[in-house]
Amino acid sequence: MRHESMPTSLIQRDRARLWHPYAAASPDLPLWEVEAADGVRLRLRGDDGTQHEVVDAMSSWWSAVHGYRHPALDAAAKRQLDRFSHVMFGGLTHSPAVELAERLVEMAPAAPGLPRLERVFLADSGSVAVEVALKLAVQFQTAAGKPARQRFLSIRGGYHGDTFAAMGVCDPVDGMHSAFPGLLAGNVFAPRPPAAASATRDSLQAWALEVQDIASAHAEGLAAIIVEPILQGAGGMHAYPAECLRELRLIADRYGFLLIFDEIATGFGRTGELFAADHAGVVPDIMCVGKALTGGYLTLAAMLCTGEVASTVSEDCAGALLHGPTFMGNPLACAVANASLGIIGDGGWRADVARIGAGLTAGLGSARELEAVRDVRTIGAVGVIELHDAVDVTAVTTAAIRHGVWVRPFRNLVYTMPPYISTAADIQQITAGMTAAVAEVHEPSTARRGDAA
Ligand SMILES: *Cc1c(COP(=O)(O)O)cnc(C)c1O
Repeated sequence: MRHESMPTSLIQRDRARLWHPYAAASPDLPLWEVEAADGVRLRLRGDDGTQHEVVDAMSSWWSAVHGYRHPALDAAAKRQLDRFSHVMFGGLTHSPAVELAERLVEMAPAAPGLPRLERVFLADSGSVAVEVALKLAVQFQTAAGKPARQRFLSIRGGYHGDTFAAMGVCDPVDGMHSAFPGLLAGNVFAPRPPAAASATRDSLQAWALEVQDIASAHAEGLAAIIVEPILQGAGGMHAYPAECLRELRLIADRYGFLLIFDEIATGFGRTGELFAADHAGVVPDIMCVGKALTGGYLTLAAMLCTGEVASTVSEDCAGALLHGPTFMGNPLACAVANASLGIIGDGGWRADVARIGAGLTAGLGSARELEAVRDVRTIGAVGVIELHDAVDVTAVTTAAIRHGVWVRPFRNLVYTMPPYISTAADIQQITAGMTAAVAEVHEPSTARRGDAA
């Protein structure tokens, strides 16, 4: 083994001590130090000391929708810091948490005559919100006299988080199932819905029939259906028609399953409606939100459910929802979330998302002409370049940085969901940088796979 000399740079010190997401310890992948973040821009320093100013095309994994150092969010954090940063939530409460719950209930998908999402559980991350949703669904079925209903129906290509139960409803092939075969529950998976861009009446009907068959075959063991509505994110950036959500609602009602929408990536305007469920006019029984909830400042997520679900569980002899994190309802995070949702509540996001979406569609169009590119699609303020083959992540990331853009591709996807404050020039820089990076790295050596399905 190579003898390591004393690490000197920050990046070397990181490599000696830290894990990064989905990475080996001390991987050979490049790493950049963030020296500053302001608005949509990050100032990065590379291993060799070179500095780069880049537009953050990732919104720090969908979260920093208002950009960095936003005055209203900064002020909310400082105000709460001067009151108190954290208190336990068992037996105690505080105004940031109560205000946040009220705001979320007010914003949540609703339709006349349908039960409202009116009860809120504050969780400390998206994955935990999903865990709580799954627990609640099982507790609901038990309280309703169906204790055999312990498993879940999901669709292929989904992503719901990294904790065990959440992993268990992620895509069974591309998710993390293969690494933990003995520990993941035997959930059932329907096919991925047809793509929004190419769905036909026939393909939608065939899909609905397949889901229906799976639901009926497993009905007595299933507590709930869980999906990311309209857009599957980390499972492959797959957009599908709103009609599929109405089918899932019908199937859930027919068999007595709860319907859980994981809006952690799609919530708060990203797909062009406040929640992706709003494209379909469907109200789920349980909804999870996270990511953009605090505008990317602090880790916080929430699970909302209908009054009926909450009261059924509460009136059962067991009664309590069996979850309670140490940092539940963290006041600093709630205070920033209230400021973030205040900006969302002003409604400017709708025009921003439409404008950004149009800019992404126009700016990414030329990527279609690249041989290595299989598809280009946009939905709301999300733009995706899908390649035929796996992206060379290191090379594309590095090339994009040279063009002033921060992206984090995965699998065969180079994608962006820019902060809502991005200007036309920022979007132009993002789309040009993404396209140039793909062209430089994957053209012309990548042969087109003509036999691809
Ligand atoms: C990111 C994400 C999660 C997990 O959230 P964490 O905060 O990373 O635990 C769950 N579901 C969806 C749809 C996500 O995009």
